[in-house]
Amino acid sequence: MGNPAEVWKAEKHGFDVWPDVVRHAAAGTPMSDIATPDLERMKWYGFFYRKHDAPGRYMNRIRITAGELTADQAQAIALMAYELGHGIVDVTTRANLQVQGLAVTHLPVVEDRLAAVGLTGRQTGHDNVRNVFAHPFSGLLPDEVIDTRELCHAVTALFIGNRDYADLPRKINICLNGTTEPSAHFWTQDLSFLACRVEGEVFFQLLVGGTQGQNPHLAWHVPVLVRPAQVVPVTGAVLDLFREQGSREDRHRARLRYLVERIGVSGVEAAIQERVPLRRAPDMPPPMPAGRNDDLVGWFPQRDPDLWTMGLCVPLGRLSWRQLEAAGVIAKRWGDGRLRTTHEQGLAIVNIPTGFKDAAATDAAAVGLSVHADSLSLNTMACTGTQFCNIAVTETKGAMFRLIDTLRRRTLMLHGIRIHMSGCPSSCAQHFTADIGLKGVRVRRLIGAREGFDMYLGGGVSGDIHMGLPYRLGVDAEQLPLVIEEVVHQYYLKHRSGQTFSAYWRERLQQAEAAKVGESDYRPSTWICERCDHQHLGEDPPVFCPGCAGVRRLFARVDVDAPSVASVVADTGTTSPPRAGGFVCVAADSAVVEGTVTAATVDGQSYALCRVDGEVQALDGVCPHEGGPLGEGALANGAITCPWHGWSFNVRTGCGIEPAGLDCTRYETRIENQKIYLKPSPLGMVTAAHGDAPSATATLTLLAVRDEAPGVRTFQFDNHTDEIPHARPGTFAQVCVSIDGVDTWRSFTVSSAPATAGALELRIKRNPGGAVSNALFETIRPGSRVRIRGTHGGFFFDPERHREPLVLISAGSGVTPMMSIARYLAAHRPQHPCTFIHGARTAADIIFRRECQDLHDRLPSFTYYVTLSRPDATWDQGCGRVDPRYVADVVKAVPANRYFLCGPAGFMDTLRAWLSESGVPDDRVHTEQFLTAPIPGSMG
Ligand code: SF4
Repeated sequence: MGNPAEVWKAEKHGFDVWPDVVRHAAAGTPMSDIATPDLERMKWYGFFYRKHDAPGRYMNRIRITAGELTADQAQAIALMAYELGHGIVDVTTRANLQVQGLAVTHLPVVEDRLAAVGLTGRQTGHDNVRNVFAHPFSGLLPDEVIDTRELCHAVTALFIGNRDYADLPRKINICLNGTTEPSAHFWTQDLSFLACRVEGEVFFQLLVGGTQGQNPHLAWHVPVLVRPAQVVPVTGAVLDLFREQGSREDRHRARLRYLVERIGVSGVEAAIQERVPLRRAPDMPPPMPAGRNDDLVGWFPQRDPDLWTMGLCVPLGRLSWRQLEAAGVIAKRWGDGRLRTTHEQGLAIVNIPTGFKDAAATDAAAVGLSVHADSLSLNTMACTGTQFCNIAVTETKGAMFRLIDTLRRRTLMLHGIRIHMSGCPSSCAQHFTADIGLKGVRVRRLIGAREGFDMYLGGGVSGDIHMGLPYRLGVDAEQLPLVIEEVVHQYYLKHRSGQTFSAYWRERLQQAEAAKVGESDYRPSTWICERCDHQHLGEDPPVFCPGCAGVRRLFARVDVDAPSVASVVADTGTTSPPRAGGFVCVAADSAVVEGTVTAATVDGQSYALCRVDGEVQALDGVCPHEGGPLGEGALANGAITCPWHGWSFNVRTGCGIEPAGLDCTRYETRIENQKIYLKPSPLGMVTAAHGDAPSATATLTLLAVRDEAPGVRTFQFDNHTDEIPHARPGTFAQVCVSIDGVDTWRSFTVSSAPATAGALELRIKRNPGGAVSNALFETIRPGSRVRIRGTHGGFFFDPERHREPLVLISAGSGVTPMMSIARYLAAHRPQHPCTFIHGARTAADIIFRRECQDLHDRLPSFTYYVTLSRPDATWDQGCGRVDPRYVADVVKAVPANRYFLCGPAGFMDTLRAWLSESGVPDDRVHTEQFLTAPIPGSMG
């Protein structure tokens, strides 16, 4: 018997620790003076020693069978948490309740108080059968197949107090489902009974061997039908089989799933059939999971049409004692004194008459419990983490609350996308079956280690149940909001109609896997023990360090990806080699002074560094508007202002402030050893509009030049190999011209539609005082080779998200991005309704007139209007400027459209204000500004 746990279990059964607990309580024995095996044995009574809590504290896990709870029981637990603990009660993913912060002197008191209200914490930890749960609304649902609560209690009675069933090789999870739509949870239990009707009779289908944890596995279907009366004997048969034949050699391979793998599903069935003759159903298809996650928050009608269940959202399962006490009071006052805990870490009050619904919800709201949770509170789950859990690697509930808060400020909506966070590989928050699963790890960065998370995508429900696939390993905790925003927005922008988040990412990640051919793509992680420097290769660190026997959380992952860029250190001009983690040194810490901006260069790319409230922030060094040098900008009130045109950006988010709508890329920074490090890969654009459009720098050949209007030309470049990615109509590119030996970049809007016959067209207006546009007009000829960078910008039409009728409104040179959008519509979405309104001074100034008129004549859904501020006598169309009155005359149902505006600032301010007054939501008005006169310092 090589497994140490089996040695001390054989020496003394867990049940026999109680006299010691009473003795320690009477003596107030410090935790450090209690032998570890006895501390472990206390879990047989539901008491868990907590090394991370205040010295010597214990947690009590209370078994809530079938999630049923009376108001008296809830109030007794709340009082216990208030009087004896930290005042915190957690609802777990097995519908248990946990009270944190108990002293050793309290343990017998807790046992007595629980017994007085008919509760127990017995056998809720270690190698026991854990809480047996059912659908939280079992017995109340109008359309359930069978009420499974009694069966849950009968199964529990089988093993509670039974010495044999309290000495299993590892824990066993059991649950029963009496509804027609079992959720994903049932596929990760050791033993699941799923109700079905066959020829009018109620049976259960059987799943065995599911597990979350370090080696997750979905349960196997045993092709039998179990009658309700056979549930307890079948459970007994499986427990006996596991107790007698389960491996006790290696705790990592002691779960029931490994026994199933060893003897096969047929072996499990044979062992059951020997004891309980079951009807075989080899032709019956395996049970199917529900197409969505359980919906347990809100009002739910019960079988009795006058009664309701009030499902309350408990963010991350954490209740204050006062909230649990209030829930008991509400259940007594407005219901029949009964509550439910849910496996989604929630709470429900049942049997509320229709007339009391509002009063009950109001009382719940008074203590911060709601039936109207937002998508972030509803779709997130976190385990206990380092706050209380002994083996946690990272904080979880605090980290998840911060994550929710950040995503809420960024107005990210999850729409049912589930995020689960576990603090270690044990997966108590079931991260493998979440859409976005987060597993806590320690990540080594430069010097020292920090908390991070491995991110898995594609788990959970997507027509079937899947375990998530690894997406990014070792994401820093503070980077999570950006990475989550990125994957959610990518799904929103690119998924096919009807495709779930899980299905979208599974497809992407499986494709990525298929594309990987090198062995190095599956290089295992390297971990290093921070106590003895022992190195370990593998998916997870070992439970104990083979070098010094330290615990798992001493291990930090070593980031071995070597970045390839070099940086120029800002204050010295010297170059610095790249460092681990993709960070490069860009400046001495002292070089970036509070309230100032400093320019830095990495691999030829410029960045603007600034220090605000002691923190160093980094933005792109090139203004996304016209390419101004942000590194030479001014810093005030947390915003950088571009020296060319005065556009300003929030340094913490990159969001455009004045004007709003065009944002700047932000980059991650670190300060280590009095040096500032920057990670050149962007943290991601900060708004949904930007997504992840790629850009590049390339030298393109000029194919042709066309005159469009006086002083306006189109320059057509050869881009047949897509060296400059152009996926979004409305964006701009930057052109480089050498002036007096200095590379000078200037931004110009792309007028061609994306992927137009291999050409990239820039419409350029000559600026008499602008060095770049003059150079382009005078020296660049067909055949010339020109450096171009792009495409960039947040002003673009997104056909996947912008489904409303479009209204394109431009004045003067602002026509260019509209032309790109119009050309895109003509080529790809000719049915999409579009009204194009353009204002110019004279007929000769109208750019792209013939082509727009042709679209108007050819496409029934495309309408083109032009109005002139200085018409001559021959002009027979609109006269005057483009103003609200003109737009109101030609646009139908003003609030129903999406608007793109481009022109001088005053023109856009007027229209934007009018659209807002007319009821058009702000997020349906896109603006792009251009300047009517040369700006001092501009090179255009
Ligand atoms: Fe503790 Fe790990 Fe379970 Fe979280 S997943 S509660 S950290 S054992």
